[in-house]
Amino acid sequence: MNKKLLALVSLACVLPAQVKVNEAELERIKSEEMEHSQAMHTLHMLTDRFGPRLTGSPNFEAAANWVVKQMKDWGFQNAHLEPWDFGHVGWLNMRASGYMMTPIHGDLTFRVLSWTPSTQGTVNASAVEVEVPHGPPAPPPAEGAPARGGAGPQFLQPTRAEFDAGIAGLGAKVKGKIVLAGKAAVVPVNFTPAPLRRGEGDARGGFGGRGGRGAAPTPDPNRMTAAQVAEAFDQFLVASGALLRINDAAMDHGLIRAFQNRTYDLAKAVPTVVMRNDDYGRIERLLADGEDVKLEFNIVNETYPNGKTSYDVVGEIPGSDKADEIVMLGGHLDSWHSATGATDNAIGSTMMLEAARLIKALGMKPRRTIRVALWSGEEEGLLGSAAYVKQHFGTAEEPKPEWAKLDCYFNIDSGTGRVRGASVFGPPEAATILSGVMARYKDWSMGTATATTSRATGGTDSTNFNAAGLPGIGLQQDPIEYGSFTWHTQLDTYERIVPEDVKQAATEIAAMIWTVANLDEMIPRLPKDQMPAPAVPRGGR
Ligand SMILES: [Zn+2]
Repeated sequence: MNKKLLALVSLACVLPAQVKVNEAELERIKSEEMEHSQAMHTLHMLTDRFGPRLTGSPNFEAAANWVVKQMKDWGFQNAHLEPWDFGHVGWLNMRASGYMMTPIHGDLTFRVLSWTPSTQGTVNASAVEVEVPHGPPAPPPAEGAPARGGAGPQFLQPTRAEFDAGIAGLGAKVKGKIVLAGKAAVVPVNFTPAPLRRGEGDARGGFGGRGGRGAAPTPDPNRMTAAQVAEAFDQFLVASGALLRINDAAMDHGLIRAFQNRTYDLAKAVPTVVMRNDDYGRIERLLADGEDVKLEFNIVNETYPNGKTSYDVVGEIPGSDKADEIVMLGGHLDSWHSATGATDNAIGSTMMLEAARLIKALGMKPRRTIRVALWSGEEEGLLGSAAYVKQHFGTAEEPKPEWAKLDCYFNIDSGTGRVRGASVFGPPEAATILSGVMARYKDWSMGTATATTSRATGGTDSTNFNAAGLPGIGLQQDPIEYGSFTWHTQLDTYERIVPEDVKQAATEIAAMIWTVANLDEMIPRLPKDQMPAPAVPRGGR
C-alpha cells in the first residue's frame, strides 16, 4: 500500500456497522504488540514466579502486588488493591506424597483438595471403598447435554433419610482406614476429540460463550444438594475416625481437577485427595480381589488467617474530555491450585494488562478513562467482582452514581485462544457497535458480537455486571485445549499457551477498548422499561 492510499484509509474508515475505527491507530497497536509484546513475560511472572493463585493465599497476594507495581512501571495511574471480605483463611498445599505399599509398591498421582487438613505425619493404613449414599438412578440426560466425569450409572442425590440409611453401620468399616469415596468412574476412550479451533463463523468459546452454563435442573427440595452430601459425608468420616478420603478424578489421561472443601472449615473434613482415575481404578480392582491394599500418605497444608481479606487489582489510563466515563476490562487473577493457572486465567489477566499497556506505551490518550480490573475469588463463586460491582455500581434497581458512568466491562476467561466473538448485555445496537470493530479482524477469524438480556450470573465475572444491568461483555475464544485438558487441571501451565493467539487477542482487545473509549456515545443500554428483573443468583466457577 502506498503512502497516499494509507493516509486516505487512515482517515477513519467506516465499517459496515458505522463505527469509525482509526486505521492508523489500530495499525500502531498491532505493530507494537507484534514487535514489542510483553505478554509472555507477564504470563511467566504470574504463573512461574507466583505459582497457583488460590484466593486468600500469599501466592495470590504476591501476584496482585506485582501487578500493581507493573502497572505503575508502565505508567498506569491509580494502581491499587481493593480489599473485599473473603471471610475464609487462605490455604496452600506445601507437600504431598502418596504410595501404594501392599500388595505391590506403586506410585499414586493425585492433588490435594483445598481447604482440607494435613495428615498427622505419615499415615499408613488399609484402603476401603465405600459407597457415598445416593438416591435412585437418575433419568437419562437430555439429548446433546454435555457429559462429564465419566460414564457409568448416574444417581439422584439422596434424601436425608436415604443418606442416613446409607452410612448406618459404616462407621466401624472406615475407622482408622483410608477411604475411597464411591465407585471408580468408567471413562471410555474418546474417539471424537473436540476440535481445537471452531469453524468459520462459529464464535462460541471453549464453553460456548461463558455467558452462563445453561439452566440448572430444578432441585428437588426433598433431596440433598451435592454440597450437602459432600459436607455430611465428610462429617461422617471425621466422626468415625477415618484417616484420609480419596475422591476419583473421573477423567481420562490422568487428568485431575481438585476443587475445595466447600465449608472452608478444615475441622469439618479429613485430609482429602483427588486421585487420577487410573490409580483409583487400580486400587478398586485389587480390593475386589480381596487384597489388603495398604496406602501411605504424607500431606502438609498451611493456612493463612490474613486471607480472610482478599483483593481485586485496579489501575487506569486516565481519559481526557470524557474522563469521568469508564471503559473497564479485566478477568480473574486467582486460580485453582493443581497447576499454575496459566489458561485459567493468568493468560486472560495478561491479555487485558497487555491491551491497556499497548495504548499507554504508544502514548495514545483515550477520551474516556480505561480501567483494568483483575479479580480474586472468581473460582469460589465470582466473589471479587461481585464485591466490586456492589460497592461501586449497585444495581439497575438501586444504582450508585458510578452506575451511570460505566461505559462497559470487557471480560476474558476462556483460555489461550484468539478472540472469536463477544456477548454483550444490552440491546442489539450494543452488539452492532462491537461487531463493527470486530469486523476489522476477519482475517484472524474474528466473528461478531451478540446481545443478551440475561441477568443470570455464572460462568465468569462479566455476568456480575450483567446482573447489575450494566453492559458486561464476555469475550469468546477458540477452545484450543481449554475444556479438554487445561481447565482447572494439573496441566494448566505456561507450556499450554499459544503465543501467537495471545498476541492477536491483545491486539484485538486493545482495538476494541480504544475504539469504544473514543466514541461520541457510550455503549447503548436497555431502557428502564425493557430491563429484565434480576435473576436468582446461582454462583459460578
Ligand atoms: Zn476462569
